[in-house]
Amino acid sequence: MGKSTSACFSKDRLIMYTVEELLHELNQKSAQEGLHWLNNHLDQLAFSTALGEEDQVLTHMIAKAQLPIRIFTLDTGRLFAESYDLLDLTQKHYQVNIEVYFPLANEVEKYVQESGINGFYDSVEKRKTCCHIRKVEPLKRALQNTSVWITGLRSAQSENRQAMQKVSFDPSLQVIKYNPLLDWTDEEMRAYIDTHKIPVNPLHKKGFLSIGCAPCTRALLPGEPSRAGRWWWEGTAKECGLHETKVLHKNTV
Ligand code: SF4
Repeated sequence: MGKSTSACFSKDRLIMYTVEELLHELNQKSAQEGLHWLNNHLDQLAFSTALGEEDQVLTHMIAKAQLPIRIFTLDTGRLFAESYDLLDLTQKHYQVNIEVYFPLANEVEKYVQESGINGFYDSVEKRKTCCHIRKVEPLKRALQNTSVWITGLRSAQSENRQAMQKVSFDPSLQVIKYNPLLDWTDEEMRAYIDTHKIPVNPLHKKGFLSIGCAPCTRALLPGEPSRAGRWWWEGTAKECGLHETKVLHKNTV
């Protein structure tokens, strides 16, 4: 299989799966069953972790089952110190290699020289440009030669994510996406974390539910939805361009 665009094959290269077929296979499976099924049938699987609670659950599942699924994260250069500590702890705790992708230095330098070190506060456009340089472009590099991109997205995280399905095709990134925890509730996730003593970011206990870059994340106020602390100064959807909600079904892996 080459770069994932609209088609790739099963491990034995005899079967080509459509998105509908993958959705049919994976929709009723538990997260663990789904990960095993994918591993048994497809090559070039990649899981992106942002070290959130959902991501830590999936890292735990992949590591404990010793599934040969690539795990990677994006270091934007603006993360919380606690997130770097959790990255280090997670690698040591699970004995896994988490590949770290960085933004292109010349792009960051150009952005900062033109817009300032915190230029993302000045306008939505400048914020999106920063997210593109620090997140979207490195993600595209990380997803090269990937057949299925595994994420920790859950419907309960935001209204925007309720429109997502467990399997979809991301037209901008040209890759099939699988969200094994999509239908997990907050209670299910926290119970799983407690049961398995999974390491999580200490900032969660200080009111940070969804944790991204430090200058763009604040703690939640009582009653606020989980992603209200991201880009709180904007009224737009709380996404950075990594996860679009467009769903297409006419593609295969
Ligand atoms: Fe830049 Fe903020 Fe986006 Fe991080 S979240 S990439 S600092 S705009």
